[in-house]
Amino acid sequence: MELKDKRVLVVGLGKSGVASALFLKARGARVTVSDTKSGDELRNEIPALLDHGITVETGGHGERTFREQDLIVVSPGVPVDAPLLEQARSLGEAVIGEIELAAQFLPGPIVAITGSNGKTTTTTLTGEILAAGGLPTLVGGNIGTPAISLAERAKAETVIVLEVSSFQLETIQTFRPKVAVVLNVTPDHLDRHRTFAAYAEAKARMFENQTDSDFAVLNADDPTCVAMGARRQAQVFWFSRQKEVKQGAWVREGNIVFRDGRGQREVMQASEIPLKGAHNLENVLAAVCAGALMGCTPEKIRKAVRDFKAVEHRLEFVATIRGVDYYNDSKATNVDATIKALESFPANIHLILGGKDKGSDYSVLNHLLRQRVKRVYTIGAAASKIESQIVSSKSGGVEVIHAETLETALRKANAVAQAGDVVLLAPACASFDQFKNYEQRGQVFKEIVRGLE
Ligand code: ADP
Repeated sequence: MELKDKRVLVVGLGKSGVASALFLKARGARVTVSDTKSGDELRNEIPALLDHGITVETGGHGERTFREQDLIVVSPGVPVDAPLLEQARSLGEAVIGEIELAAQFLPGPIVAITGSNGKTTTTTLTGEILAAGGLPTLVGGNIGTPAISLAERAKAETVIVLEVSSFQLETIQTFRPKVAVVLNVTPDHLDRHRTFAAYAEAKARMFENQTDSDFAVLNADDPTCVAMGARRQAQVFWFSRQKEVKQGAWVREGNIVFRDGRGQREVMQASEIPLKGAHNLENVLAAVCAGALMGCTPEKIRKAVRDFKAVEHRLEFVATIRGVDYYNDSKATNVDATIKALESFPANIHLILGGKDKGSDYSVLNHLLRQRVKRVYTIGAAASKIESQIVSSKSGGVEVIHAETLETALRKANAVAQAGDVVLLAPACASFDQFKNYEQRGQVFKEIVRGLE
């Protein structure tokens, strides 16, 4: 894509929007950025943009701003069907997202990873496997460095490992990963995608430009992934923690095995994985497939997996206090992630639930709560909804303590927990009612826990 003197509008000034604007400007485009946030809210971003000669519009989008462009780059936070974007399309302007922009400037192979849960863990691990395998590797996307910022550093032989969200996939055109991984598809973000089918369809766009020289890696235990596998151009590789697969990775008598057209090889024992939970076995199996498909040997893959540390705020071990283990899973911002966290401990859990509700159904937790949880502590804005949906001890369910804050929840749990118990923050909700983001919620949890010692 030639950018010199092109008129380009970047909509939305998140991390990827800022990176896109600077990239486009550096390539000679005439760049405008537009955001509905006020100039004051964007005071950290604006100076660098102005310094580079980028035109900045804040506090709303001017209609004319959208009319006079050759190209519009939208941030993942902006709905694709926003009226101004529809209008721009009808005027023949190209509307793409930052991942698409990056795809056009990334010369080397892309390994892309999406899914409802596990993206960050699997992307990070895959990056480490490829690096251990001796491949020049850069990791980014929805985590850490925006994909477009990697374009400046990537050489033809650099493998780019990208975490990709469903929102980013809605605005691709030519994006074509060499290896495209879909970990799982469970209900999330239905406030934006409206229906589950639309959400699954967005994730399936990972495969739309692939050919038979590319690879699709899919979860054989996830019905939506299985349906996706039926209509791919790419060669499909499966991973499963429950059954043997024709091509891909699975567990045979405690060993992780990978099989492709050249035969099968043992990679490592599942018990060597240093992460808790069956869901992390799935993440490892997916990363094993991606690593093996990119040519890494079983020895290198094994080493990278064995050395891997849980990503912060993902079922992260914090401390043992008087025999009680504390785990921070602040990133469990939906019900499925909470289910996976509960499945990672057999019993005696003190579970902290709550935050900002995303329209979730918490009653699906009842079965596991009854089986494994000693007490639930509710916090934040969703507390009363959660309390109305989970079965309390009065009705034969679990004991529920209305704690209001993380601090109170932890103090109450600390007061009653016995050696062998687990105190787990896996709140099934977003954090924005009481915290800046899930990272801050996790930090606060860890600080309070350390203060309990
Ligand atoms: P994402 O980037 O997709 O949000 P993370 O790796 O950050 O994924 O994990 C998000 C949450 O989901 C964490 O609470 C984590 O423990 C949980 N999780 C991780 N992998 C999986 C998986 N394969 N299936 C379900 N939940 C998972």
